[in-house]
Amino acid sequence: MAWLSARTNDGSLPVRGEDLADFQFDGERFALVDRQRGIRKPAALAAAFSIRTVYTQPGQPRPYDDLPGVDGRLRYKWRGTDPQHPENVALRRAMQHRLPLIWFFGVGQGLYQPTFPVYLVAEEVARHQFVVGYEPELAAAAPDSPVEAALRRYVLQETKVRLHQPVFRATVMRAYGTRCAVCSLRHGELLDAAHIVPDSTEGGIASVTNGLALCRIHHAAYDRRILGINPDYVVHIRHDLLDEIDGPMLEHGLKRRHGQPLMVLPEIGRERPDRDLLAQTWEQFASRGSS
Ligand SMILES: [Zn+2]
Repeated sequence: MAWLSARTNDGSLPVRGEDLADFQFDGERFALVDRQRGIRKPAALAAAFSIRTVYTQPGQPRPYDDLPGVDGRLRYKWRGTDPQHPENVALRRAMQHRLPLIWFFGVGQGLYQPTFPVYLVAEEVARHQFVVGYEPELAAAAPDSPVEAALRRYVLQETKVRLHQPVFRATVMRAYGTRCAVCSLRHGELLDAAHIVPDSTEGGIASVTNGLALCRIHHAAYDRRILGINPDYVVHIRHDLLDEIDGPMLEHGLKRRHGQPLMVLPEIGRERPDRDLLAQTWEQFASRGSS
């Protein structure tokens, strides 16, 4: 995990599957993920070591469900339906011994956002899955009590910050080639994964189709409705700014973008911004612009 922290800038950047092959333990190569399967159970260890969820493009059926359950926690499916399958036994051992695992979450073909350490805090045998949490001591508790409501909010918030936000960001940055959609600026440190319509706190990971890679200025301008993007991917700048005279940021960064198409869009068609979502935000921009 320390090696992975260093490779991912403390877990803030995704890692390519092939780069994981560089990892060595005691001078020997040691696979951090299983290339064929979701569950990595090294022969020398009694328990599972890492789990993996592959990336699915928008509109494709997801092999695993990343939506939090009623308790706010995530789930990880068994391998198949046999509780005694060696990989399921290996996951159960990790749960019983409260061992930390690494979860490699796909954000593109062969590209993973790792989140770690995670713990398996309970097993839901009837649904063929384990309950995943960030704290080993927080076993899944009975829902619907007042204390549980507060705990659920806490768990949801933690999942959002530790898994959903990094996965959304990594997916959007990969889809846009780490460039601002409006001005094509290439510096990841200056780029955000912006939501077209605000992210709901209850849902799972926001789809890349509700995302835009935007530099900090264009992100703030979009959120404040200074800059609008219509459903045909054309940028508009609020009218009062077009009449203003100021320095290069206003002149080049904003005014000259007016009436121009987005400079960067995802290559994969189904990852491009959802036109209905753009229309919702565009309506708010257009109504402010005319007032
Ligand atoms: Zn920009």
